[in-house]
Amino acid sequence: MGSGSAQLPAQPLLLTAEEFSAVTQFNRGLIERAARGELAVPDFPALVDDLQRIHQEVRADRRGAVAAYIPQLARVDADQFAISVCTVDGQRFSIGDADVNFCLQSVSKTVSYCLTLEEHGPDTVHRHVGREPSGQGFNELTFNKAGLPHNPMINAGAIMSCALIRRGLDAADRFDYVAETWKRLAGGRSVGFNNSVYLSERSTADRNFALGYSMRERGAFPPGTDLLATLEFYFQCCSIEVDAQQLAVAAASLANAGVCPLTEDPVFSARTVRHCLSLMSSCGLYDFSGEFAFTIGLPAKSGVSGALMLVVPQLMGIAIWSPRLDAQGNSVRGIEVCRRLVDCYNIHTYDLLTGLGPGAGAGAGAGAGKRDPRLKRQQSAIEGIVGLCFAASQGDLNEIRRLAACNVPLGATDYDGRTALHLAAAEGHRETVEFLLSAGVDPKPVDRWGGTPLDDANRAGHRHLARLLADAARL
Ligand code: GLU
Repeated sequence: MGSGSAQLPAQPLLLTAEEFSAVTQFNRGLIERAARGELAVPDFPALVDDLQRIHQEVRADRRGAVAAYIPQLARVDADQFAISVCTVDGQRFSIGDADVNFCLQSVSKTVSYCLTLEEHGPDTVHRHVGREPSGQGFNELTFNKAGLPHNPMINAGAIMSCALIRRGLDAADRFDYVAETWKRLAGGRSVGFNNSVYLSERSTADRNFALGYSMRERGAFPPGTDLLATLEFYFQCCSIEVDAQQLAVAAASLANAGVCPLTEDPVFSARTVRHCLSLMSSCGLYDFSGEFAFTIGLPAKSGVSGALMLVVPQLMGIAIWSPRLDAQGNSVRGIEVCRRLVDCYNIHTYDLLTGLGPGAGAGAGAGAGKRDPRLKRQQSAIEGIVGLCFAASQGDLNEIRRLAACNVPLGATDYDGRTALHLAAAEGHRETVEFLLSAGVDPKPVDRWGGTPLDDANRAGHRHLARLLADAARL
């Protein structure tokens, strides 16, 4: 797929009234929200524009190197690059190589962990695996004080997940169960399996065997675990293949509390997803996890194939695939796309705090000037102007500074042509009037009744303000 596709039919479809009522009967709520412009990302075309721009800009970045520990990964075309997004209402867009398959590698660890939780519950699962970041590389030969893997997002922990999934089934059925779960999460399209990656993984797996034997020596596995079968199962899970579109839908299923937004299939419980997202947030990006939590502030999981799955809870899932990796094993372009998204949208978990408390306002940094993808086109602008007029009428200078930092134009008018300056002048708020004038707003805007801020100040008897406004108007 060389260019973007919003996955809309190329030609408009003409339906009869009966056909329309037949196709809409199961999705009335969704269609109604779409018609009202109230889907998860109401201004989806703006998001599409941003993703196209980001793809174009980041494509030039050729830093990093493809994983070379097995020839099958070393041989992939390093320049491939896909971004795919799916919202919790099933709005979708993909750009770049979004229909090329890649193997999940470590991204498989997320679903393996969810499956153990669904089957055994967190108490049993966490008798065999910890939930602290290890601070070490993904395949480091290290365990926590209890002799257990640090968490399910690194190799040792994912090998443990494989030991716990459907222990009573034979190998083929266990694999089918995992592959089927990925298919359900990804909207119902079958996932693939890369046999040569699997064979290669298996024949170059000294470290994973060492992890397995060390865990067995420490008594970490449940009694009766067949270590070789467990390791084979782990290599198979890493070798499952998806494309970026499927991975985005799977990420959206996690964003949607375990229910696939395309099929409404409840694959995982919300509780399971909550646990998984917590560990993705703290441990999902190898030994870059802390830095990622700080700068991006969202749950994600990467794999050495160059895949990165990003979850924006209750909003959308994003898959980025580009094979060149940085020193920590994360996709260079994947991380860069996340950075740019968080630069323009207030999706970092703690962006919601920006603008509150001391230090908020002009120059507050982090969240200032970002857009909210949850708002309708114009909604943020309208809310900004209403907020500005209200703050001006109250003389709330802190709030006015905060709105200015969010790019609300200080000279904006409401539907009566009234501006912040009219309202501050009418109410006698000297500091606010001075601030607005020093910010360069028009000193004599005219409202729908022909009135200027000077008229407001005179009418209310604020003589000092009237002088200030008259002086400013003369300059
Ligand atoms: N199959 C890889 C391994 O176990 C997984 C690497 C990864 O994506 O982190 O070494």
